[in-house]
Amino acid sequence: MARVEHDLTDEQWTALTGAWGGCAYCGDGDGRLQKDCMLPVSRGGRYTLTNVVPACGSCNASKCNTEVTTWMRRKRLDERVFLVRQAEIVTEIVTEVVTEIVTVITTREP
Ligand SMILES: [Zn+2]
Repeated sequence: MARVEHDLTDEQWTALTGAWGGCAYCGDGDGRLQKDCMLPVSRGGRYTLTNVVPACGSCNASKCNTEVTTWMRRKRLDERVFLVRQAEIVTEIVTEVVTEIVTVITTREP
């Protein structure tokens, strides 16, 4: 079996949970949020910024190994709203990182 790459950093996870402010699926803000892979690891998904969202224990257990849009349709959740929000949050986090890198480069002494 191929080695699974997990490159989600603690900083990215903190940014993700902060941006979502609760479970990405049901909005539940109580309790511990778990790292849920939109595309499950068993189906080739990885723990990366673009594939991980915070989920409550209940959603995570219910979704299990199901691909995210299939599961959301079954639960009658709005997958479109979710996917747009997810893309916005990832873009925000990436933009912040790029801005930081540019700042470091442009303010560096020659
Ligand atoms: Zn939930």
